[in-house]
Amino acid sequence: MNAIEPGFQFASDNTSGVCPEAWNAMLEANSGYAASYGDDPWTKRARELVREIFEFDCHVYFIFNGTAANSLALASMCQSYHSVLAHQLAHVETDECGGPEFFSNGTKLLLVEGEGGRVDPAAVEKVVRRRSDVHFPKPKVLSITQATEMGTVYRGEDLDRIYETARRLHLNLHMDGSRFANALATLNVSPKELTWKAGVDVLCLGGTKNGMAVGDCVVFFDDDLAYEFEYRCKQAGQLASKMRYLSAPWVGLLESGVWLKNAQHANAMARLFAERLQAFPGVSVRNNVESNAVFLQFPPAVAAALRSAGWHFHDFIGVGESRLMCSWNTTEQEIEAFLKSLADAIKQNP
Ligand SMILES: *Cc1c(COP(=O)(O)O)cnc(C)c1O
Repeated sequence: MNAIEPGFQFASDNTSGVCPEAWNAMLEANSGYAASYGDDPWTKRARELVREIFEFDCHVYFIFNGTAANSLALASMCQSYHSVLAHQLAHVETDECGGPEFFSNGTKLLLVEGEGGRVDPAAVEKVVRRRSDVHFPKPKVLSITQATEMGTVYRGEDLDRIYETARRLHLNLHMDGSRFANALATLNVSPKELTWKAGVDVLCLGGTKNGMAVGDCVVFFDDDLAYEFEYRCKQAGQLASKMRYLSAPWVGLLESGVWLKNAQHANAMARLFAERLQAFPGVSVRNNVESNAVFLQFPPAVAAALRSAGWHFHDFIGVGESRLMCSWNTTEQEIEAFLKSLADAIKQNP
């Protein structure tokens, strides 16, 4: 007996719903009147919680999504004649429709390579040293993604090398933390170790993929870079008038510690999934599951059969692999259902 219908379970961590803690916080916030545009008690509390968690008197802005968070953060770190170094698979390059360039009025992204989705510091150095004349946009920011688009993480020693390189080359450090909680859950260190203590100037902290309905957060660990950021948010249409509905879920997730539990669960499911997938002939799984993503290669006919059975998953074009994502509500039964379809698909396409 199998009650699970194949569908969007593993297509992304934004195909899952809202976790109860986020939902309940929104429900609680939905009583009576509250000041608008962020002057409400929920937003105040959510800001305090972010400061407590990072153990830093940081500037905190709640906005609608990660593309805006990255784009506006990078815009506030750059002039139009600057450049941002990022991995060639970075979300800011591949999935934001030029948002960072648009909001910064032309700041150029310079792409670097690196194994497993991680920026290689030597490659950064090479690109920065290539030119130093006025005819080329001046490198100003190094952007890294934690956890990366390939499901890996930057460990302490990786971050040390990144920071050392950035500091030597006078680059500010931006972190796309759309899946920051997943990295934190894997590395099991305090949030400050992965951010301001590691030289991160600005963090875009993901809420949506962690279990909220909507909302990401921009955290500045540098006062100067946050200068007039609220105007950028407003101009970009990212200042919620009923802000309490964006900020209350953060209170629900951060106060209870569920933001980490959600990530731990998603990561554990991804590890289990990867382990179980190893047993299937013709399927090769990347063995570096360090967050909630599993990357693997199917024979094309098997992938096609899974899709016609109703499963959805993304192919990563530059990588030649498919990606299965787990989220806060992934169940073992869902994984079993997928594996059953996979076994059928392999049987039909030996
Ligand atoms: C999902 C994601 C974002 C944010 O995307 P939005 O769809 O704009 O919320 C940013 N960075 C990474 C690495 C992501 O996976």
